[in-house]
Amino acid sequence: MKYIFGPVASRRFGMSLGIDLSPDKKRCNFDCIYCELEPAKPIEFYDNPPNVDEIFEEVKKAVDEFNFDVLTITSNGEPTLYPYLDELIDKLKTLNKKLLILSNSSTIDQKNIQNALKKLDIVKLSLDSVNEKTFKKIDRPSKNISLKNIINGIIEFRKIYKGELIIEILVVKGINDKEDEFEALNEVLAKIKPDRVDISTIDRPPAYNVEGVSIDRLFELAENIKNQNIFIPTREKINYKIENLTKEELLNTLKKRPFSESDVKNILDEHTQKIFNDLIKENLLEEVWVGGIKFYKAYI
Ligand code: SF4
Repeated sequence: MKYIFGPVASRRFGMSLGIDLSPDKKRCNFDCIYCELEPAKPIEFYDNPPNVDEIFEEVKKAVDEFNFDVLTITSNGEPTLYPYLDELIDKLKTLNKKLLILSNSSTIDQKNIQNALKKLDIVKLSLDSVNEKTFKKIDRPSKNISLKNIINGIIEFRKIYKGELIIEILVVKGINDKEDEFEALNEVLAKIKPDRVDISTIDRPPAYNVEGVSIDRLFELAENIKNQNIFIPTREKINYKIENLTKEELLNTLKKRPFSESDVKNILDEHTQKIFNDLIKENLLEEVWVGGIKFYKAYI
């Protein structure tokens, strides 16, 4: 198969069947230092786009063949550069599967892209920094792309989008791993009002000579992001712990920062886990599902 990959078990979205809109080469308007693909000069337009019907026929066959939770539109690059994306999404919707796109946000200020993406069940947009200098250093965008337009575009999109909006922040050591970066992100995220914020770091060989940060550091940085459903995907053992909270303290924490199921398992010490279980029994916590991840938040 040319355009389909998987299904793969994704930590963030469950079983995912991927559609690659640029299988022959990288086509991206960013050249992120952490990219898993080879470094490449950012492009502005997609050349030789594949035929929509050819992609759709392949997807249709795969949908009959595999079991999965979500059909993920992605690319060796940026999928929103594919010129027939809107037409493809209309066809994919006839399959009655949950649809997700993974985008770098570069085109979200464009009305035609917003109108196409708003038909999807889940939209994941990247926002590694809200500081222009840091953004250019980490994402190395093509020169016509402005961070201000991206931020305004995401805020506008949120207003018209009824599905699940997930913002992803990827942290690179020495570049966007400082408290002030996350304080600034916190302010912008409060305006965006996403359904979930994923904070991750490099876990595969990157395009350039850069490193990720520890998972514990991700949890520390996440403390600066208030009132959001935060998900930190991890395979590693976590040392970061939330310890010895009283019932009131845990309730207050869960009002400001809902915990995912894996947070409960991995970062609460034994004592606080017991308190957490009491809160569940007493019906003081609400379960919220976002993009296949379960969160617990305190009723306010
Ligand atoms: S947006 Fe994605 S594909 Fe493009 S350079 Fe960045 S990581 Fe690579």
